[in-house]
Amino acid sequence: MANEKVDVVIVGAGASGSVFAAVLAKAGKKVVILEQGPDWQLTDLISSDFWGRRIKPASGPFLLEGKNPFGYVYQAGWGVGGAALHYFANFPRLLPNDFKIKSEHGRALDWPISYQDVAPYYDKVAQDVGVSGDAKAEEIWRPAGAPYPMPPMKTFRHGEIWLKGCEAAGIRLVPAAVGMNSTDYKGRPACIYDGWCHVGCPTGALSNPLVTYLGDAKKAGAEVRALSTVTRVLTNAQGNKVTGVEYYDAKKERQVQDASVVVLAAWSAQNPRLMLNSTTDKHAKGLANSSGLLSARARGRCSMRTSRTTWARPARNSCPTTAMARPARKARSAAPSSSRAPRSRRAISAVSPMPASICSGPTSPPS
Ligand SMILES: Cc1cc2nc3c(=O)[nH]c(=O)nc-3n(C[C@H](O)[C@H](O)[C@H](O)COP(=O)(O)OP(=O)(O)OC[C@H]3O[C@@H](n4cnc5c(N)ncnc54)[C@H](O)[C@@H]3O)c2cc1C
Ligand code: SF4
Repeated sequence: MANEKVDVVIVGAGASGSVFAAVLAKAGKKVVILEQGPDWQLTDLISSDFWGRRIKPASGPFLLEGKNPFGYVYQAGWGVGGAALHYFANFPRLLPNDFKIKSEHGRALDWPISYQDVAPYYDKVAQDVGVSGDAKAEEIWRPAGAPYPMPPMKTFRHGEIWLKGCEAAGIRLVPAAVGMNSTDYKGRPACIYDGWCHVGCPTGALSNPLVTYLGDAKKAGAEVRALSTVTRVLTNAQGNKVTGVEYYDAKKERQVQDASVVVLAAWSAQNPRLMLNSTTDKHAKGLANSSGLLSARARGRCSMRTSRTTWARPARNSCPTTAMARPARKARSAAPSSSRAPRSRRAISAVSPMPASICSGPTSPPS
């Protein structure tokens, strides 16, 4: 069945799809978001590890190729809100020299943009979604920007212990920037520090898409169609223009949604899958894949049991609201090597709440 044509159809109601929807709907575009999972509301969310599995990945894993292939589903979500319904809400920023890895370290590539190009957006998103943190303190490693809209979260006993240990080792820490309300913000309540963020925050203190951009999008008239699984992007006979998407609705019936623009926001691993599935005689290898490289460079960031990642999953039994902080590199490299803290490139800033017994973090991904 064909639905009435819209300006924009967005595949996926997660963090990315919500931002597109909010911006485009506010600009007056007719927007439909197709989401394969259920239409979660805050009131559906239950603080239970068993229940929480419902909002986690529900489809088969991707088998990554390479020397050591492994099945990968972890960084995903299921239903309206997507992965950010149960994420840890750490909002760290890249640093200026992260954009110049080639020039500064002779590895990889420099970015064609700089920190200064993205900095205004970091500040805007922090205001939009509500970030708690101490922007001034972060100036030890990044240029000044706008203050965060809320002060940092509380520091609890285990945070104090980390602070003491790191101070003794010469590692400077600052409060983690997190998308959680340390105070009431934009009609949403302050966090009560009960530590259930990893299965979805039912109070709205965690800045998930339902209470931020998706809410804005709906207010501006965007329609969210849940239980609608997109299978293909459709193109015209010449193969040079998208015309919409094919999807299967809650009754498993085939539908077509015509649109002038298609936005794939189904998660970085699902988007290529959809494009590879959209072959035609004009696109024998899938859409945007004349090079044959579509998804070939996708990289799994193995976050299980590791603490060597930018924000990452904290180690097991640590709190979901801990974040990674970094000592200022200039200051560190200026220091005599004997005074440098070992393995200090990224240190855990355990300045956020909750006893570890409550914050065990999510278990392994559902199989
Ligand atoms: C446990 C966990 C903790 C995290 N912690 C942090 C953190 O602290 N800080 C941080 O910055 N990031 C964190 N992340 C990562 C962050 O949450 C994700 O990168 C981000 O939410 C991805 O958003 P997205 O819109 O790209 O994809 P998703 O949120 O995965 O949204 C994609 C949506 O598309 C839907 N979909 C998929 N295929 C189809 C289809 N064929 N048809 C229709 N709909 C479809 C899915 O159901 C899903 O709702 C965390 C992630 C997880 C899982
Ligand atoms: S700890 Fe705070 S942000 Fe997390 S679920 Fe509880 S109230 Fe929500």
